Amino acid sequence: MSVKTPRPFHVVNSKGHVREAFQPITPGKVTLYSCGPTVYGLIHIGNLRAAITADLFYRTLKKFGYEVNFIRNYTDVDDKIIQKAASENSTSDLIAKKYISEVERDYLAAGLAEPTRKTLVTDHMPEIISMIESIIKNNHGYVADDGEVLFSVESYERYGSLSGKKKEDLLEGMGHRVAVTDKKKSGLDFTLWKPAKPGEPSWDSPWGKGRPGWHIECSAMSSKWFGPSMDIHHGGTDLIFPHHENEIAQSECATHEHPYVRYWLHSAMLNIQSEKMSKSLGNVVTARDFLTEFGGEITRYFLLSVHYRSVADFSEEALGTTYSSLARIYEAKEKAQELLKLKAALPDPRAEAAWGSFLSSVEKAKTDFLDQMANDFNTPGALAVIFTLIRDWNRTIAEPRATGTPAAVLAAQEFISFLESDVFDVLGIGRANPRSVLDRIRDVKLKRSGGSVTDRPDEAWILSQIEARKAARAAKDFAAADDIRKAMLAKGVAIKDSPQGTTWEYV
Ligand SMILES: [Zn+2]
Repeated sequence: MSVKTPRPFHVVNSKGHVREAFQPITPGKVTLYSCGPTVYGLIHIGNLRAAITADLFYRTLKKFGYEVNFIRNYTDVDDKIIQKAASENSTSDLIAKKYISEVERDYLAAGLAEPTRKTLVTDHMPEIISMIESIIKNNHGYVADDGEVLFSVESYERYGSLSGKKKEDLLEGMGHRVAVTDKKKSGLDFTLWKPAKPGEPSWDSPWGKGRPGWHIECSAMSSKWFGPSMDIHHGGTDLIFPHHENEIAQSECATHEHPYVRYWLHSAMLNIQSEKMSKSLGNVVTARDFLTEFGGEITRYFLLSVHYRSVADFSEEALGTTYSSLARIYEAKEKAQELLKLKAALPDPRAEAAWGSFLSSVEKAKTDFLDQMANDFNTPGALAVIFTLIRDWNRTIAEPRATGTPAAVLAAQEFISFLESDVFDVLGIGRANPRSVLDRIRDVKLKRSGGSVTDRPDEAWILSQIEARKAARAAKDFAAADDIRKAMLAKGVAIKDSPQGTTWEYV
C-alpha cells in the first residue's frame, strides 16, 4: 500500500516571528497541544476564539493528510477554582466538573471537533511530581523551608527566547514590587509545587502535601503523551509570557531535550468595540451568550474571517460583514439545492460549455483553498477563494438555458460537495441547511437593529402586500405600488424583483 505524502505548509513561528516550512518530528505525523481554560466559570468569547483556532489547526492538518495527535487540556486545580468552591460552599472537584461540562456544551455548539485527547491536571499528579524531581535533580529547582518548590530562572540560559524578554529587564521591571525573600533566590523564580493550606485540595509529594504551580501541568502532560518534544504548541498571545516561557524552561531542564516545541503558534485577542475585553471594563461577553444569540455558523464565520494572528474586533460593523458574507454562501447553496430538484432537461451543448467551465473553477477552488490554508492558516484568503467561486456560480446560473441539464446537475452537486466537504472539513461551516442559517441571520439582524422577532410582520401580511403591489403595478398605478413598498420597508421588510418574481426578506 502506498502512503500518501501529506501536504507541505508554512507557519509563522511566534518564536522569532519568522515564516518557516513545517518539518514534523516524525514524517506524516503532527503532535499539537493547545492550552485550555481554567474551569471556574463560563469561558468568554476570547477563550472561544483560541479554542476555534486550535480546532482550525487540527482540522486543516488532517485535511492536509497528517496523522494528528491533538491534546486540549483543562486546568482543574487552581486558586480561582478553590476560591469559587469556597464562595459556593462546594468543592474544587465539583466546581471543575461542573464547568468542564459547561465548556464542553459551548464547544459542541461552536462545532469543535473532538481532540485526540482531553487531559486534566488532576489525572497527571505522578507525572508532575516526577518532572519536578528531575528539575531538582538537574539543579534547576530548589525546595524552600515550607515545602514550596521553585524553578531557578538564573540556572536556565535560554530563558526569554520565546517572548524576547531579557532576565535583567524583567528584574529591573519588577523593581521594588517583588522583594527577594529568604525563600526566593531571584524575583524571577516561579512555583513548581506549593504547600497546601488547610482545607485546600492536596496531593502527597516528596515535599509534603501540596499542589502543582500553574505552568508545570502543560510540561508534564505534553511530555507524558508526546515525549520531550512536540511539533506545534498553541495558546492565546496572553500565554506567551510567563506561561509558555516557563513551560520551555521546565521541560528543557527536566528532559535536556531542545527544542521542547518546534513551532509556537499564538492566536491574538478579541476586542469589544476596539476595547480590550476585561472584567474591570465590564465588557466581557461569554461564549454562551454569543453562541445563544448567533448560533455556531455565524460565530465560526465571524471568528475565522480574521486571521488568527490578527486582533479581532467584536463590533456591529464586523457582524454586518459576517451576515452578508455568510448569507452569500448559503444563498448560493440554496440555489444549488433547488437546481437539483428541477425536472431534468435534455442535454444542451451551450449549457455543457458553461457548466464545464464552472466545473474547472470548482477544481481550481479546491486547490486554491488549501493553498491559502497552507500559508499560515490564512482563513481570509481561503474565504476569498470561496467567494470567487460563488461569483462564478451566480454568473453561470443566471444564464437562462443553463439549468436542468445533466451538466447543470453535475455542477450543482460538485458545488455543494465543495462546501460540505472541502470547506466544512477545514472551517467547520458550509454543511448546515441553508434555510436555517438564512433565517437565523434575518432574525439576528432584526433583533440587533432594535426590533424583536415577535413583532415583525408575518408572512401572510407580507404576501398580501406583495399581491396588492403587483395589482397596483398591473393597473400602472406606480405611485401606489411604491407606497406599498415603502410601507413594507418601514416595517422591516425589503422586497426584490427579479424575472422569477418578487422575493422578500427581513432587514
Ligand atoms: Zn499551558
